Amino acid sequence: MAQDKPLPVPDPVTQPYWDGLNAGELRIQRCRSCEKAVFYPRALCPHCGSRDLGWITCSGRGTLHAFTIAHRGTPAAFKGSTPYVVAMVELEEGARVMTNLIDVDPTPEAVKIGMAVEVVFEKASDAITLAKFRPR
Ligand SMILES: [Zn+2]
Repeated sequence: MAQDKPLPVPDPVTQPYWDGLNAGELRIQRCRSCEKAVFYPRALCPHCGSRDLGWITCSGRGTLHAFTIAHRGTPAAFKGSTPYVVAMVELEEGARVMTNLIDVDPTPEAVKIGMAVEVVFEKASDAITLAKFRPR
């Protein structure tokens, strides 16, 4: 699906994350030293400083931790998409992911902190699939 919105540019650290999304899997890092979940992908564990990070495949389920509804003031490429929900989802594995909540009325009446959500894979280009979430 072609789109005019800016897309992420994978690098060697984040490539396994993008490869996972292209394969229909949500993968995050887990530190082999302190065993805590790590997101976004990086070279050092933000909890203990270890370089010994591995990858796990997530269930794709989580809860809505926080959100805002964008109506205006968004970059030009997103203006045609307003209103949309910018969401912080806490995954069952413990990491929090910045994402969009879709398949929901973008109003404070419909979007609730703590609501159960699940990942949706949205193909944005040949190389990039985005992880978005919807109510479950
Ligand atoms: Zn660690």
